[in-house]
Amino acid sequence: MLHIGCHLSPSDGLLKMAKTASLLGADTFQFFSRNPRGSKAKPLDEADAAAMHAYLGDNGFAPVLVHAPYTLNPCAEKPETAQFAELCMRDDLVRCTAMKTPFYNFHPGSHVGQGIGVGIEKTTALLNRILDDSTDTIVLIETMAGQGSEIGGTFEQVKAIIDGVERSARVGVCLDTCHVFAAGYNIANDPDGVLTQFDRVIGLDRLKFIHLNDSKFECGEHKDRHAAIGEGFIGLEGMGRIVNHPALKDLPFCLETPHEKLDEYADEIRLVRGMTE
Ligand code: FE
Ligand code: FE
Ligand code: ZN
Repeated sequence: MLHIGCHLSPSDGLLKMAKTASLLGADTFQFFSRNPRGSKAKPLDEADAAAMHAYLGDNGFAPVLVHAPYTLNPCAEKPETAQFAELCMRDDLVRCTAMKTPFYNFHPGSHVGQGIGVGIEKTTALLNRILDDSTDTIVLIETMAGQGSEIGGTFEQVKAIIDGVERSARVGVCLDTCHVFAAGYNIANDPDGVLTQFDRVIGLDRLKFIHLNDSKFECGEHKDRHAAIGEGFIGLEGMGRIVNHPALKDLPFCLETPHEKLDEYADEIRLVRGMTE
C-alpha cells in the first residue's frame, strides 16, 4: 500500500499531530521541528515524543520526516547567517534522535552570488561539522528547483555535496516532484528517464522520501511554486506515473500542496491512494 501523508503542525503536541494524520488517512507526515522561520524551538516534551513514537509504531506508520526551517541558508556568505543555520540543524539532529524520527530534511541553500562551487563547499563543510557521534539521524538533501541562486537544482550538485561528506552513510535525498520538474527533469512524462538519471548520478539507494507536489510552472522554468495534485503542469496522469513507478512506490510520499483546511488534505490523500494500481 502507498505510504502518503501531508505537512502537519506540532503546535498541539506530537502525539496529537500523529493522531490527526491517522484521521486524514495518512500513514506518514512531515513537520517543522521549530518555527519554520527559524526562531528558537520549544524544549522537547520527552513524554510526548515517546508517545508519538509508540503511536506511529502501533499504527503501522511509514517513517515520518522532520523538515528544517526553510529560511535557513547553510551556505550563506554572512558568518552569522551560516552559524545560525548550523546551530538550528545541530539542535534539530539532537531533537530527531530524541524523537526517534529517522530523517531530517533540509534545503541545501542559496549561494547568493558566491558561485555554485562555493555554495556546495560551504554546505558540505557544515554537514561535516554537524554529523558527529552524538546523533544518528539521517540527513536528507532536498532536490531544489534551481530558483535564483539555489544549489541542489541538478542531480550532479546534490551528488557533489554527498561526495564531500565524510560520514556519507548519514546522508540521503528527498526528491521533490515540483522542484525536479521545475529544474528541468520531466518526471511527469518520463519518470523512467529521470529516475534512471538519478540512479546513474546519485544512486537510488540514497532516495528515502518523496515530496509529492504538482507545479504551477512548466518544466525547466526554475520556479518553485507548488500546485495541488492534478492542478499543475505535472497533472493527474503524470502523478499516476510517479506514484506507481516501481522505484518510488514503496517510499513515503508527503504532500506539500497549497490547501487551507485539513479536510482538503484528506481528500487529496484519498485521490492519490485512488491512483495506485
Ligand atoms: Fe522543502
Ligand atoms: Fe519540498
Ligand atoms: Zn518547494
